[in-house]
Amino acid sequence: MNVAISQRATACARTSSRTSGFPQGKTFAFTVFDDTDNSTVENVGPVYRLLSEVGLRTTKSVWPLGNVSWGRFLWTATLQDSDYLAFVRQLHRQGFEISLHGVCNHDATRDVVWAGLQEFAHLIGEYPRSYSNHSLNRENIYWGAERLTRTVPKLCYKVVALAGCAKGRKFEGHTVSSPHFWGDICRQYIKYVRNLVFDEINLNRVNPTLPFHDPSKPFVNYWFSSSLGADVASFCKLVSEANQDRLESEKGVCIIYTHFSKGFCDGGVLNRRFEYLVRRLAAKGGWFVPVSELLDFLLTRRSDAIIPPAELAATNRKLRTLRPATSRSTTAFSSNVAR
Ligand SMILES: [Zn+2]
Repeated sequence: MNVAISQRATACARTSSRTSGFPQGKTFAFTVFDDTDNSTVENVGPVYRLLSEVGLRTTKSVWPLGNVSWGRFLWTATLQDSDYLAFVRQLHRQGFEISLHGVCNHDATRDVVWAGLQEFAHLIGEYPRSYSNHSLNRENIYWGAERLTRTVPKLCYKVVALAGCAKGRKFEGHTVSSPHFWGDICRQYIKYVRNLVFDEINLNRVNPTLPFHDPSKPFVNYWFSSSLGADVASFCKLVSEANQDRLESEKGVCIIYTHFSKGFCDGGVLNRRFEYLVRRLAAKGGWFVPVSELLDFLLTRRSDAIIPPAELAATNRKLRTLRPATSRSTTAFSSNVAR
């Protein structure tokens, strides 16, 4: 584990391990990690205006380098687009976290990852604190079956992957001998990496040790799980009135992983159900801060960041039971194959 990060977490844990609840007397925590795929100022700008207006500060990922023509997601704006860069910088000034979703829309070798990280720091003014792997990029770190730790879930994962878009793909960000290796860079600069996704609004139910370190994946300082809300339909299903109320009553934690480019805004008009649910949620006594700020706080509440083996096994088992026999399980499992 990165020494500086480890020492800071341990010091915080010693002083604050008895803390309960959230800062400012808030009863639950809710935030969003927005995957940048297909995002433009036009299709996510209105979403962020709403979030800003109601007081939600979340995390927006970006690509610091321009798109390569042979990659996918060519519609996505990057920090090389001046209008989009201005939009992202404005969000940053407003208190939104800007994070990394890989450095571009296609595979990156180590030198490209390094260049992208430096470009991020140059344009945003600081290095990213959180990161999520992008789709099928080869430099993805501990991706594919390596997202799991237990043998049987890994095999299940490979079966699903073989039948889907991840067939034949290799992910080598953690493979020292690969030209796509950047694990040491990740460990030095990135504090939090997103991993598994659950169809559950309260992550305390499935991953109470959040964030956590997994000693079997030494290039990642801390992992965080997230809640399934990949597009506007699944987002609204997850933050339904009943689920909002349950998150509040359980004093829970929610980090939705979504793509705000996927149906939240059409022709400049926000999805009405999404807007209603966000306004309803924002009126509750929640702590609405970006992902890294929330995870920093959660770290201070524990004396040990190593995930207990039983909990790690349970998270893997939960996915193992999600076989593609039903539409619900297909969605949940496939959401962890390439998203
Ligand atoms: Zn992506």
